[in-house]
Amino acid sequence: MSTYLDYNASAPIDLRVLNYMIDVYKNSIGNADSRTHNFGEKARSVVETARNQVATLLGVMPDEIFFTSGATESNNIAIRGLEDYANSTGKKHIITTAIEHKSILETVKYLSGKGFDVEFVKLGINGRVNSEEILNRVREDTLLVSVMHVNNETGIIQPVKEIGDSLEQKGILFHLDATQSCGKLVEELREIKYNMLSFSAHKLMGPQGVGVLVLRKKRYKLPPVKNIIYGGQQEHGIRPGTIPVALVAGCGLACEIANNEYKDNFKKASEIKKAVIQELDASGLEYSINGDPEFCVNTTINVSLKGISSEALMISTKQFCGVSNGSACTSKSYSPSYVLVAMGIDKNIIESSLRISWGAGTKKEEAIEGIKQLLSVAKQISS
Ligand code: PMP
Repeated sequence: MSTYLDYNASAPIDLRVLNYMIDVYKNSIGNADSRTHNFGEKARSVVETARNQVATLLGVMPDEIFFTSGATESNNIAIRGLEDYANSTGKKHIITTAIEHKSILETVKYLSGKGFDVEFVKLGINGRVNSEEILNRVREDTLLVSVMHVNNETGIIQPVKEIGDSLEQKGILFHLDATQSCGKLVEELREIKYNMLSFSAHKLMGPQGVGVLVLRKKRYKLPPVKNIIYGGQQEHGIRPGTIPVALVAGCGLACEIANNEYKDNFKKASEIKKAVIQELDASGLEYSINGDPEFCVNTTINVSLKGISSEALMISTKQFCGVSNGSACTSKSYSPSYVLVAMGIDKNIIESSLRISWGAGTKKEEAIEGIKQLLSVAKQISS
C-alpha cells in the first residue's frame, strides 16, 4: 500500500463531506437562484448554510463570503477585479512576494503588462518575507499588497499579522492567500486584518473545484473589486454562473468539520512531524530542512537528502508513498522550484529537495511506514 503524503497539493475528501454532497446531489436539485419553486428555495438554503459554515470558521459575516471555483479564481478576482478602480484612482502599484502561488504571480504579471508597477519582495534562506521589506515599499499610489499566509512548498508561515495590522492603519488593501492555512491555523487567521482572502476547499478535505473569496466590508462597503467574467448576478455579480450547490455544500461542511476538529488535528499533525524527523535522524542520511523550522506548519516538511536526486527518489518510491518536489501546478516542468530559488538555496540542495505533507486524514503509522520505505530506498540510491 502506498501512503499519500502530498496533502499540500490536494487533500482527500472527508467521507462525511462526500456523503453529504451525494445527499445534496440527490435531494437538493435545482438552481439556487431559481425563485419560482421549492426546489430552488431548498438549493438556496443549502448554499446559505454553507456560507454560514465558512463564515463561522473564519470569524467573518456570511455576506462577506463569495463562492468561486477555487483559490486560483479567487486570487484572480481579488487582483484583476481591482483594475477599473486602479485606473480611476491612478493607484497602480502592487507589492507581492517572489514565493506566491502562480495564480498570484501570473495575474500580477498580466497587470504589469498593462502599465501596473509590480514589486516582488525577495526573501531570505529562512523562507520568510521580512514584513519591513513590504511595508517600506508602500507608496501614495500603492493599490494592493498580496501575501500568502503559508507557503505551499515549504510550509513557512509568513508574518501576515504584522503586515495586516500596519496596512490597515495606512488604509492599503491587503489580500491574503490562505489556501494552505484555512482550517488549520484557525485562530491565527481570525486575528489577521485583511480586506480579501482566498482559499480552496480541497486543501481542507472538501471537494475540488470550489473555493472562496472573502471580501471584508468596511463601513458597510465591500472592497472595490469587480467581476472578471460576465454573466448573471450570482454571488452578487462578483462571480457569475450557476452556483454548484453540492460543491458549495461540501465546502461548507469541510469548514464546519475543520472548525470542530482543528485542535485535535493540530496535535495529531505535530506527532506526525516529530515522527518524520525521528525517522530522518535514525536513517543516518545527511539531510537539511528548507526554511526555518521555527516558522513551519506542522503539516509540511521540505527536506533535502544530500546527494540524492529527488526525481530519482520519487520515481523509485512511487509504490510506497506519494510525495512531491514542489507545487503540483509546476510539477510537470523539471525546472527547479522557484520558491527555493527565491530563498537563495543552493542548486544541488534544491535538486534533492522533497516536499512531504500530511493532514487530518493521515494515519501516523501509515505515514511512518511510507517514510521508512522512502528513506530505505534513499539509502540504497546513495550507497
Ligand atoms: N494558493 C496556494 C498557496 C496554493 O497552494 C494553491 C494550490 N496549490 C492555490 C493558491 C491554487 O489553488 P487551486 O489550484 O485549488 O485553485
